[in-house]
Amino acid sequence: MHNFNKLLSIFKSNKTFLITSHVNPDADAIGSELAIAGILDQLGKKYFILNTSSTPYTLQFLDSNNIVTKFEEDNHAEIFNEIDVAVFLDLNSLNRTVRMEKYFRNFNGIKVCIDHHTNPEEFADLQIIDESKSSTGELIFDFINATEEIKFTKEIAVAIYSAIMTDTGSFRFSKTTPELHRKIAKLLEFGLQPEVVYDQIYNQYEFSRVKLLGEGLHSISISDSGEISYMVITQDSLKTSGGIESDVDGFVNFALTTKGVKIGILFFELSDGIKISFRSIDNIPVSKLAEEFGGGGHLNASGTRLHNVSLNEIMPKVLAAADNILKDYKKR
Ligand code: 5GP
Ligand code: MN
Repeated sequence: MHNFNKLLSIFKSNKTFLITSHVNPDADAIGSELAIAGILDQLGKKYFILNTSSTPYTLQFLDSNNIVTKFEEDNHAEIFNEIDVAVFLDLNSLNRTVRMEKYFRNFNGIKVCIDHHTNPEEFADLQIIDESKSSTGELIFDFINATEEIKFTKEIAVAIYSAIMTDTGSFRFSKTTPELHRKIAKLLEFGLQPEVVYDQIYNQYEFSRVKLLGEGLHSISISDSGEISYMVITQDSLKTSGGIESDVDGFVNFALTTKGVKIGILFFELSDGIKISFRSIDNIPVSKLAEEFGGGGHLNASGTRLHNVSLNEIMPKVLAAADNILKDYKKR
């Protein structure tokens, strides 16, 4: 049982909140933010939602009132003097807030972290962190469920449903338990339409994303062992296809679709660095692999961002480290 009483008491005894999540927010990030906003609405609190990145266009439907805002130093630096509490969702280290990190490091108010990743930095006054949960959205579900004063609404249900649906790969990853489906059943009672949510998130892309996926699929290679498969997206492939950074979300899963492959990797050349995503099957700990390169995540899904390196430099190192992880795994 988490310290939900403490969370409620922080919510109730403070006035002004800043809600945030990680760079390149996904539906667990945005959905969790909007669910917390719904809770603070019920308690009559003032809040801001600020992220270092803008909301991907596919998730804009969740935020019909446009309350999730991209952090701009010039407009928003003052907010840090006004807020009592910062609420961090779906991240467990402050560097995941990138451009906002230094403001949070200097912030003297209360910090609350609700998250489901491994290896937390422990920067918060109250941590509600549970790796066993499918998503941050599920933890917020648990909080509302356990708290009489807070009620589910249709808006909160849609936000949490979207968070859980996406973080479970549409209810197929291993944390999809009978208990989780019972929670989903409860959310469905609020009248949300699963087909509409799915369609908004996964079937409303710009055509350029399909072209970019084509570039990505074309680039996939497989290691000599047949156990590591990797995709490369370069700045050139972005330009050729007309795709954008957030389009790449989910591409790494294609690297895992080949028989015999145990680790899938995506090397993504950003305008200012390299993003690497890792996926694995069974108990192969790609969280460790990401940690070796300064990142983190979950056992089967992790990532990192690197600066001042080139694809040519980093790829052989990462592939060698992935080979070693597989060797260690076989030894046990
Ligand atoms: P994705 O590859 O889908 O961007 O991320 C997969 C998982 O790895 C997510 O749970 C995410 O939190 C984690 N992750 C991705 N990039 C980073 C990173 O740069 N640092 C850390 N600590 N975790 C990351
Ligand atoms: Mn998540």
